[in-house]
Formats: sequence, structure tokens, C-alpha cells
Amino acid sequence: MTEDILRQGLSALSLPSERIPALLRYGELLAEKNKVMNLTAITDPEEVARLHFLDSAALLALADFRGESVVDVGTGAGFPGLPLRILEPSIRLTLLDAQRKRVDFLQEVCGELGLLDVECVHGRAEEFAASRRESFGLAVSRAVAALPVLAELCLPLVRVGGKFLAMKSVDTAEELNAAGRAVSLLGGRLEKPLDYVIPGTNIPRRLVIITKITETQKKYPRTFAKIKKNPL
Ligand code: SAH
Repeated sequence: MTEDILRQGLSALSLPSERIPALLRYGELLAEKNKVMNLTAITDPEEVARLHFLDSAALLALADFRGESVVDVGTGAGFPGLPLRILEPSIRLTLLDAQRKRVDFLQEVCGELGLLDVECVHGRAEEFAASRRESFGLAVSRAVAALPVLAELCLPLVRVGGKFLAMKSVDTAEELNAAGRAVSLLGGRLEKPLDYVIPGTNIPRRLVIITKITETQKKYPRTFAKIKKNPL
């Protein structure tokens, strides 16, 4: 059943089905570990297939990831970064999360799936920028923070000419307006968002796209306390 959902969803995205066994194994490891720690609120395997795997996979139809260095900021149990890397092996992936247990889980999954080049980093995005500033072609993020905050966490990591892709619900007009100032202060340009439907569902989603047009000033990102207290 889950396999059929994945097969149909991937086919709707014109993606091959050969990576389905890897996704299924990832789903098993997620279900197993979720019994002993909080990785995801979604536990039904069919929902995991749709809301985690296919929602992540949908990005491959909306942007060109081939050969890109990609950082997934606040990846949690690996979304969207890990399904992207499983389905597009030319991605050079860094998974970043502030919770050590989640990063340990990701390391385990990557070992099991033989994804030995995936970099799993335990750390906070605003601190990671000290060592990896302007060094990724793409940053992606889902369900981490509101855009003005998220932009300060992610844009410093993206090189000029690269993009930051934020997965949001369609109900984000206000959030987009509020983020305009932050995005330009951080050297970005807000593009027209891309709306899509998670394949095989009628769930609408929105990809907010920010192009990095100039280097981010060294004073950003600030400490998280400051970012939170006083979003740009
Ligand atoms: N992206 C995943 C997880 C969302 S939950 C998904 O969509 O399923 C949010 C995650 O962001 C948590 O795992 C949390 O530890 C992480 N996080 C929050 N703030 C962060 C920061 N400043 N730097 C790195 N990770 C952060």
C-alpha cells in the first residue's frame, strides 16, 4: 500500500521508482525509533509516505538540485533533505539540527542506507554560519520558524547566486509581507512563490523562493535570543 502510494507519487513527479526500497527502509527505521523518541507526530505509514516523503520529493520538480550542495536547516527526522538525496544522488547534502538525538538517528539511517557522503551536523544554524558562511548552493527548510527568523538562519549559509527554499503552507501572504525587509537586509530577493499539491493528495503547499543576490553582512546572523526577540 505504502509502496503503491510512493510509486504513484513519484511517477506523477516523473521520478524513477528504483529508490522506493530505500525510502521504505527509511520509513521502517523512522517508525521503529519513533517508539522510543519523539521524531515525528505522523505515524501512519501511508501518511509518512505522503506528508514526509512525497512532500519532500515534490521539491525536485520545482527546482534544479542536480550536483548542488544543499543544507537542510532544522531537518528533524530528515525532511526534506534526506528524501531529496535518496531520489537525487548527485546532491551533496548537509543535514543540520539543534537536537543531538535527531542527528544521531540521521547518522544511523545514512549508515543503513549506505549514504556515507551525507554530512549530519549537530548544531544551531546561527552558529553553523561561523564556519560555513556563503558555502551552499541551496538551503532548504520545513516547519522550523516564521520567515523573517528563518531567513536570518538560512540566508547567511547560501552563496551569492544560490537559493533558499522554504516549504510553507499556502496561507502565508502575511508572513511573506513581513519577510520582505528581512530578506533584503540579508542580501536576498523574494521570488514569486511556487504553489503545488503533494502528489497523490489534494493538500496544497507553497515553496517560498529567495535568491541570494549579495553577500550577507557579517553582523548576521545574530544570536538566537536577539533574532527571536527582535526579528528583522
Ligand atoms: N524539518 C523537519 C523538522 C521540523 S521540527 C520536518 O519538517 O519534519 C523543527 C526542527 O528544527 C527541530 O528538530 C529543531 O531541533 C530544529 N531547529 C530549530 N531551530 C534550529 C536552529 N536554530 N538551528 C538548527 N536546528 C533548529
